[in-house]
Amino acid sequence: MATEISKGDKLYEGKAKILYKGIETGTIIQYFKDDATAFNNQKKGTITGKGIINNKVTELVMNNLERIGIPTHFIERLSDREQLVREVDIVPLEVIVRNVVAGTMAKRLGIEEGTPLMRPLIEFSLKDDDLGDPLIAEEHILSLDLADDEELSEIFDMTHQINDFLRGMFAGIGINLIDFKLEYGRIFDEDGIGYRLVLADEFSPDNCRLWDMKTNEKLDKDRFRRDLGGEVEAYQEVARRLGITF
Ligand code: 5GP
Repeated sequence: MATEISKGDKLYEGKAKILYKGIETGTIIQYFKDDATAFNNQKKGTITGKGIINNKVTELVMNNLERIGIPTHFIERLSDREQLVREVDIVPLEVIVRNVVAGTMAKRLGIEEGTPLMRPLIEFSLKDDDLGDPLIAEEHILSLDLADDEELSEIFDMTHQINDFLRGMFAGIGINLIDFKLEYGRIFDEDGIGYRLVLADEFSPDNCRLWDMKTNEKLDKDRFRRDLGGEVEAYQEVARRLGITF
């Protein structure tokens, strides 16, 4: 497989990905970098090989989710670091799912990390780096018209289905899916009025917490965020258990 594919203009460079225009109208090429940032860009580094693993984990997750009926922006993987996706209008929300208390929830509410939740919790943050992605309520979303009632209930339904599926998928390889972040996008019809909501962005150890079921060892970006070391090996271990070659 070619290492890189011909692509159009660069549209955006983010912390972990670069987006290029695809050759076909309405498509985008996502290029996955090894760069890692944390705490809203205050900590910067690289995790060697991360881009390749995140590209392939995202491919596997998106394909599996499509199979259970979740619409996604994913079209196909093009190379080790590139995948073709549909262009979407991103809903400016970070949809956070939590099965176990960790990270900012543990800090904010003073609850010990690792405390299981009675039922999965869905939280929303406003997608705005300058503001540090502040937590917002459903009422903010509706009052600010970031999404309407119908979309919000679709987001809840899809997110619960995704969580149920992924918890099972990771449990099958001895990993506890603690929490994760999703983003959704709108794909408009040709009339520019009708649209459908799809899962967008990526799913990888960059945006979820994965703990080994037996040892509780962290197999995700917290190894980098918290200076635990062994982040390259942790990403490789997740890929290996998922049957991904890299
Ligand atoms: P927390 O709110 O505890 O920092 O994050 C909850 C979950 O969402 C974690 O799995 C974390 O990786 C993911 N997450 C939250 N915000 C972001 C973000 O801005 N970027 C990425 N990549 N993941 C995020």
